[in-house]
Amino acid sequence: MERKLFKISGFGVDSFTGDEAAGYIFENYGQVVTINPEMIMNAKKRPDFAAVINSAELVIPDSAGVELGLKILGHSVARIPGVDFGKKLLKICAAENKTVALVGAKNDVIELAAENLKKELPGLNIVYKHDGYFSDEDVINNELINLQPDLVLVALGSPKQEFFISKIKKQLPKTVLVGLGGSFDVWAGVVERAPVIFQNLRLEWLYRTIKQPQRIKRIFPALPLFVIDVLIERISGKNA
Ligand code: UDP
Repeated sequence: MERKLFKISGFGVDSFTGDEAAGYIFENYGQVVTINPEMIMNAKKRPDFAAVINSAELVIPDSAGVELGLKILGHSVARIPGVDFGKKLLKICAAENKTVALVGAKNDVIELAAENLKKELPGLNIVYKHDGYFSDEDVINNELINLQPDLVLVALGSPKQEFFISKIKKQLPKTVLVGLGGSFDVWAGVVERAPVIFQNLRLEWLYRTIKQPQRIKRIFPALPLFVIDVLIERISGKNA
C-alpha cells in the first residue's frame, strides 16, 4: 500500500481509512501523529515540531477540524479519532500476539486503563507501562529499547508525546509508536467520551469543551485561525 498525502496548512495528512492505516503502519512501522488544528497551528510557530510531524511515518486526521479543512480544500478524507485508532491497533495486537507498551497519564489512570483493556481484549500482552509524570525520560527509553515492543502508545499530550516518540523511534525500528493525547483517561473511564450523536455530528470537540471548560484556551484562537488559514489556502490555490 502506498501513502497518498493531502496537504493542509503546509502539512501532509494521509488519506487512508482506519483499517488501511492500521495495516500500513504494522507493515512499515514508525511514528503515527494523530493531527488536529491546535497541533497544526502550534507547528506553524515551531519549526522543531513541524519537522517531527513532517518526518512521521503516518499522519492521521484525528479531528473534525482537519476533516473539515481537507473538505474545504476539495479532499474527502474521513476523520480517524486517535482513541478509536489506538483501540484498533490494540485489537490487532491481542489477536496476533503482539506486545504492547503504554506510556502516559497519571499512575492510577494507566493502571485502570490497562486493567480495562485486558478485560476487553483477552490475550492483550502489555509488557510495559509507565505513567507520564517522569523526570528521567532516559530510564523509560532504555526499558523500551530493551523490550522492543510491537506497539508503543504514548499519552503525554501534544507536542510532548510527538517529541518523545520522535526521539526514540530510530532505536525501535520494528515498532509502531502512536501519540494518543487523552485516550488512556477514556479507557480508564475517568474521562467520558462524547455521546455517539456528538461524534456523528463532528461535535466531539464541543462536548469536551463543555465538560472541561479549561480546554477553551486550546481551541481558541487556534481553531478559527486554522479555518482562516485553510480558506486562504483554498483561495490562493496553494495546495494544488
Ligand atoms: N500527561 C502526562 N504527562 C504530562 C502531561 C500530560 O502524562 O506531563 C497526560 C495527561 O494525564 C492526559 C494526557 O497526557 O492523560 C493528555 O491529555 P489531553 O486531554 O491534554 O490530550 P489531548 O487529547 O487533548 O491532546
